[in-house]
Amino acid sequence: MREPGRRSVLTGLMAGALVLGLDPVTRSWVTAAHAGGPFDRLPPLDGRLRLDDAALDEAADDFGHIVSRRPRAVLEPGSVNDVAAMVKYCRRHGVQVAGRGQGHSVHGQSQVEGGLVIDLRPLDTIEIRGDRAVVGAGTTWLDLVRAALAEGRTPPVLTDYLGLSVGGTLSLGGLGGAAGHHGAQVDNVLELKVVTGKGELTTCSPTRRRDLFDAVRGGLGQVGIIVGAVVRLLPAPAAVRRYNLTYPTLEALTAAQRRMVDEGRFGYLEGSLSRVEDGSWTFVMEAVAFDAVPADDDRLTGDLGHVSAVIDDLSYFDFLNRIAPVVEILIELGEWARPHPWIDAFLPGSKTDELVAETLPELTPDLIGLSAVILLYPIPAAKVRTPLLRLAKEKHTFLFGVLRTSSPGSASPAAMIAANRALYERVRAAGGGRYPTGAVSFSRDDWRRHFGPAWPAFQAAKRAYDPSNILTPGQGIF
Ligand SMILES: Cc1cc2nc3c(=O)[nH]c(=O)nc-3n(C[C@H](O)[C@H](O)[C@H](O)COP(=O)(O)OP(=O)(O)OC[C@H]3O[C@@H](n4cnc5c(N)ncnc54)[C@H](O)[C@@H]3O)c2cc1C
Repeated sequence: MREPGRRSVLTGLMAGALVLGLDPVTRSWVTAAHAGGPFDRLPPLDGRLRLDDAALDEAADDFGHIVSRRPRAVLEPGSVNDVAAMVKYCRRHGVQVAGRGQGHSVHGQSQVEGGLVIDLRPLDTIEIRGDRAVVGAGTTWLDLVRAALAEGRTPPVLTDYLGLSVGGTLSLGGLGGAAGHHGAQVDNVLELKVVTGKGELTTCSPTRRRDLFDAVRGGLGQVGIIVGAVVRLLPAPAAVRRYNLTYPTLEALTAAQRRMVDEGRFGYLEGSLSRVEDGSWTFVMEAVAFDAVPADDDRLTGDLGHVSAVIDDLSYFDFLNRIAPVVEILIELGEWARPHPWIDAFLPGSKTDELVAETLPELTPDLIGLSAVILLYPIPAAKVRTPLLRLAKEKHTFLFGVLRTSSPGSASPAAMIAANRALYERVRAAGGGRYPTGAVSFSRDDWRRHFGPAWPAFQAAKRAYDPSNILTPGQGIF
C-alpha cells in the first residue's frame, strides 16, 4: 500500500485512455479519449482507476462463473483515502459501488453493472501487535496466518480455504471448525475501519459507533466498505492430531458431533458426507486435537462410536492450509474454473437429521457434479454474538454446505440453482435459513425474512450510512 502522502493526480490509466469523470448528463464515464479536456473532475488518487478490459472482465466475473455484470471502472486504491474519495464521488454522481476482496462469491455478490468496483487487494498491510493483528481489508487469511504464526499467534477461527480476504469474510461471517469454541470470524474482530456509503472514513468497535460495527459485520457490504480490521489473535498450537472418524449412519454422525461440540473436546470439529458409486453415503467427522500425542487417542476417541478412524499428524500451518493441495488438483482437472452453484444452509439442530435425510436422494451425481463437497457440522448458538449472522433459533445450527460444480455432463447451473432454492424452501419451512453466500435466488422479501428481528436495525443503519443506496447492489437486499 502506498503512503497517503504521495498523492498524485493519476486518475486512471487504461489501454491508452485516462478516466476523467462522469458525464453529468449521460452518467457514463468520461475518458480522455472521449473528452480530451483537463483532468479536473475526479479526486486526486494515490492509486489508479482502471477502465481496461482486463480489469473490467475480472470484476465482471467471480468464482461462481454464473453471473456477469460489467462495471464501468475498477478502483485499485493506493490508500484508504482513495476509497473514501471515490465513494463520495460516486454518491455525488449516483454511481453504484461494490467492494471486492478475492472475488470468491459465486453469484455476482461483488459485481455492479455499470458502476465502480473497488478492488481491495492493494490494501494488504499486516501488523502483528501481540494479541491482535491490524490488517488492510484486502489481506488474505493465508497471508495473515503466515504473519501471525511467525509471532507464535493465530486468528481463533479460520475458513476452510485461506485464499479469501479479511474484508470479504467479515462482510459475511467467516465460519470454520473452530466456531464451536470461538464463534465466527466476525465475533473475533476488535475494531473495523470503514468507509460508509457517504464516503466517510471512520472507525467502529463494540464501544465506538456500535450500530455501524453491528451493521458492517455480516452486513454483506450494505452500509460500508471495510478498509481495515483489528483481529484478535491467540497463541498458536504447535501441532495437530487429526481424526477422520467414519460413522455408520447420519444420525450417529450428528449425535457424536452434538456431543463433541457441547463438550469442547476438540479444538476443531467439522464433518462431511460423500456419495459412494452405489448411491450410498459415507459420514465422516473431522475432529482435531491441538498438541495431542498418540497416547491420547483412546481418551479422545474411545467413546465416539465410529466404525473406522484415520489418524494423522500435521503441522498447524499445513492443517490450516489443507485445502491448498486439493485446489491444485481441482485446477488440473478444470473443476476449479467451472460454475459453482453452491448453497450453505443453516439447519435447526433438532431437524437436521430429517432435513439431510430428505435431501440426500436429491444429491444425484447430475445435480452435484464431479467434485462436489458436502459439509455438515454444528455451530453452537451460544458462541455467535453477531446480530446479522442469522443462525436457527436453537441450541445448535448445522451448517449444511452443498458445494456443487456444474461439470461437463452434469446439470446446468440453472438447474442446480433451482435445486438450491428447493432446499432452501425446505429448510426455511423447518425453521432454518442460510449462510448468505452461495447461489440462491433471493427476493427482497426473502432478505427481510432472513434477517428477521435484526432487520429494523439493519434497515436503520442502511438509511443512516448509505442513504443514497449505492453500496453492493449485487446482494439484492435493498
Ligand atoms: C473455495 C471456497 C471456500 C470457502 N470456504 C469458506 C469457509 O470455510 N467458511 C466461510 O465462512 N466461507 C467460505 N467461503 C465463502 C466465502 O467466505 C465468501 O465467498 C467470501 O465472501 C469470499 O471472500 P472474498 O474476499 O472472495 O469476497 P468477495 O467475493 O470479493 O466479496 C464478497 C461480498 O462481500 C463484499 N465485500 C468484499 N470485500 C468487502 C469489504 N472489504 N468491505 C465490504 N464489503 C466487501 C462484496 O461486495 C461481496 O458482496 C468459501 C468460498 C470459496 C470459494
